[in-house]
Amino acid sequence: MPTALVTGLTGQDGAYLSALLLEKGYRVVGLIRRSASADVINHRLRWLGVEGRVELMDGDLLDLSSLLRVVQAVQPDECYNLAAQSFVAASWQQPLLTGSVTALGAANMLEAIRLARPACRFYQASSSEMYGLIQEPVQNEKTPFYPRSPYAVAKLYAHWMTVNYRESFGLHASSGILFNHESPLRGIEFVTRKVTDGVARIKLGLARELPLGNMDATRDWGHARDYVQAMWRMLQQDVADDYVVATGRTTSIRDLCRIAFGHAGLNYEDHVVTRSDLIRPAEVDVLEGDAAKADRVLGWRATTTLEDMIGEMVEADLARHRASNLP
Ligand code: GDP
Repeated sequence: MPTALVTGLTGQDGAYLSALLLEKGYRVVGLIRRSASADVINHRLRWLGVEGRVELMDGDLLDLSSLLRVVQAVQPDECYNLAAQSFVAASWQQPLLTGSVTALGAANMLEAIRLARPACRFYQASSSEMYGLIQEPVQNEKTPFYPRSPYAVAKLYAHWMTVNYRESFGLHASSGILFNHESPLRGIEFVTRKVTDGVARIKLGLARELPLGNMDATRDWGHARDYVQAMWRMLQQDVADDYVVATGRTTSIRDLCRIAFGHAGLNYEDHVVTRSDLIRPAEVDVLEGDAAKADRVLGWRATTTLEDMIGEMVEADLARHRASNLP
């Protein structure tokens, strides 16, 4: 039975990836900070039907000795580094914390593997935010990066450290440059989930308005359930490499609102208000990924349409608010 160590198990991707690995017969071990809430972890795992089937071990990306201890004890075959301070807007408020966790945390994990289990295959969760001020209209693995937030700068460091440990030490270390990916488990602060939650609350009469920032930015949104498949496939290759994972379709926040409100029979123009304090100090205006390499080498392509995913998210938020309104 192969063993996988997952950091960021409590997040959206950690939950979907755990479910996938368990289905494939892996022993799954999650690295858990002492401060992480057991309730949050269990809620997400219960939602996916895998509660009680993953092992949890205390450790922190900021503490190399704890990583060494966990890697020594677990002897993982694969390690997925999904943990990060991942909310772009918050990275201007906490730039150094973002750098510590998102950048140096990845370096700590790479060090722990190099020192304690160099045969372990490593996956780094890189991000399309690294393209930032885009240098090409459609971004692939060869497109130059131009990060536009402390988050993106931190992710860029982690990405290059992954490449460097592959080239310097021969680690089987791959970097997945994932474009935005969403689901009903997406954090409520991200725009897709903020919109689907807002639609549900408005539909049920719990709110009238939804405040948003820049409506004109566009993103290439896929489903997290599809994207964790690509992560796993990267680590099954003989040779480690970097891959863009994307749908190849870009949609504005405005059109996202049109789709989400439309799903509930509402018109977004009646409810969305724009607020200047939600505009970011520097914006990533457009992201559109070219995942041809993932298709060619990994046999991976996105299968869920934006409409289906947003419909699933609106329905999940409606169900959640209805349940919490029960007397
Ligand atoms: P990101 O691409 O990782 O930053 O993912 P987000 O979901 O946080 O943001 C996607 C885009 O939505 C960005 O261009 C934001 O500026 C834009 N956006 C507009 N209004 C909002 C809002 O109220 N919340 C968030 N999170 N993003 C917003």
